Amino acid sequence: MSSLNGDGATPQQPRIGVLALQGDFAEHIHMLSEIGITAVEVRKVQQLSEIDGMIIPGGESTTIVKLLGMFDFVDELRSQVESGMALWGTCAGMIVIARELADPYPTPLNLLDIRVARNYFGRQVDSFESELEIDGVEGDHMRAVFIRAPIVIDTGIGVEILARVPAIDDRPEQAVAVKKGRVLATSFHPELTRDTRMHSLFVELAEEARSDSVRRSTEETRSIV
Ligand code: GLN
Repeated sequence: MSSLNGDGATPQQPRIGVLALQGDFAEHIHMLSEIGITAVEVRKVQQLSEIDGMIIPGGESTTIVKLLGMFDFVDELRSQVESGMALWGTCAGMIVIARELADPYPTPLNLLDIRVARNYFGRQVDSFESELEIDGVEGDHMRAVFIRAPIVIDTGIGVEILARVPAIDDRPEQAVAVKKGRVLATSFHPELTRDTRMHSLFVELAEEARSDSVRRSTEETRSIV
């Protein structure tokens, strides 16, 4: 079988990785398999150059930030995102990729221009579900699962708000899904439901990244020949 890059992938089948240092990476891998994508568990920084998109799962953001530092991911991750790799942070993953937090810990990676508050809903509402209307997701509202979830309290220029959770008690509505370019962040956990639409949306971003890098490498080959 022939392929464009000799690695079995085509622009229609992007290579997706799920950061597997801590958190619920297995659930994301399962969701991706439901839509025909065989994702890889990312544990080494070298794997970043072999994927078109990466998910940072829910878990414990302080631990994930610490492990990313220990395993030397930070600079390479930034450089891959700057060159167009798709990135999606869910819950703790959203905290990890934010520009700034309203909390003292951890120090986030600043890969998306958002300010985030951890555990926003507090002890009273440790976890809850809500039906969300999400821009870019067709059809019925999506059931969203929130577990000690963060919210986005401020967005920088060019960051689109895709979904808001309605006002609860005395708290106003809050942004819980945002996107800029190919970087996506959600406060909730689509991987804990059976609804694959958010994963499909991310796969589209990774497809764009894949097509871009195939085009770039074809151009490079032409300029060498
Ligand atoms: N509250 C956790 C944190 O701050 C995130 C929770 C989650 O990912 N479900 O890291």
